[in-house]
Amino acid sequence: MAKLLTGLKPTGEFTLGNYIGAIAPLVQMQDAYDEVYLFVADLHALTIYQDPTELRQRIRKFIAMYIACGVDPAKTTIYLQSENPYIPAISWLLECTTQFGEASRMIQFKEKSKKNENFSVGLFTYPVLMAADILYCDTDYVPVGIDQKQHVELARDVAERFNHKYGETFRLPTPYIAKEGTKIKDLKDPTKKMSKSDENPQGVITMFDSVEQITKKIMRATTDSETQVKFDEEKKPGISNLLNIASVLSNRRIEDIETDFVGKNYGDFKKYVAELVSEKISAIQQKYQSLLESDELDKILDKGIKKSIALAQEKYLEMKEKMGIVR
Ligand code: ATP
Ligand code: MG
Repeated sequence: MAKLLTGLKPTGEFTLGNYIGAIAPLVQMQDAYDEVYLFVADLHALTIYQDPTELRQRIRKFIAMYIACGVDPAKTTIYLQSENPYIPAISWLLECTTQFGEASRMIQFKEKSKKNENFSVGLFTYPVLMAADILYCDTDYVPVGIDQKQHVELARDVAERFNHKYGETFRLPTPYIAKEGTKIKDLKDPTKKMSKSDENPQGVITMFDSVEQITKKIMRATTDSETQVKFDEEKKPGISNLLNIASVLSNRRIEDIETDFVGKNYGDFKKYVAELVSEKISAIQQKYQSLLESDELDKILDKGIKKSIALAQEKYLEMKEKMGIVR
């Protein structure tokens, strides 16, 4: 029985990068798996300070956005991470199974701790909490963007060590990268990835942007001094990023899109990409609005958390037993 799980942190506005890297692949795969889990990683969001009022609103927006993007609550268990008290409890048991050295090698910690002078202990232990998220329900695959691959691999290593020390307890998870190269880059600085918590909103397309905003951002995206629409991540990161976005959203091969723009200029190409993105996002936004106002969301979350708690409780008790923390 194959299982799939993924989650997003409500740290900022849901971006086009999150959609392409995590949600769209999950939507595509939800029929093919026996069980699919999707959560809002609100505990993870706290690793970097969040305004409480904004966070509260965002959590609800994320759930509505998941469903608007095509996640089907009849097939996918949707829940809030913080409503399951067994997940942090499992995380502690896993922290004691994780080596300081291996946790110190996490690239995302190095990057994020550089940006925040007074970073929290939570920012460092976050990958272990993510391991708990993945391992408690015996997930086989975790669809993530390439930026999260290392964390899923850590979860796998920790699970293997736990199994070795205490006996077979966890299934080993595998990161599922939708397509090589689908790490969406920032439009203003295409050498870094597009992120929710980015300071410069001009480089980030959110799923809540208007057609005008989307068009403006894409038309002003950083490119290069050449004129040819050609995929070359080294020399033409901006154009390559737009080609990636266009390829995923239109379901067409990059080479075919390149061919369409032979002899045309960057302006024509950007216009094409802006139309594709606007069309996709506007359709999602229409569904989103009606969902946000309905009480369906609470019913979906109540059902999801019930299932999640039952599984996590079982796993927690099994771990405690195996580790010898019982009366
Ligand atoms: P933050 O800046 O707060 O870390 P984020 O945009 O990186 O936010 P996360 O909540 O960390 O979003 O990640 C949610 C999911 O979206 C993960 O699976 C991650 O791999 C994927 N993802 C994030 N950014 C991108 C991107 N630019 N391209 C493709 N996938 C992405
Ligand atoms: Mg991130």
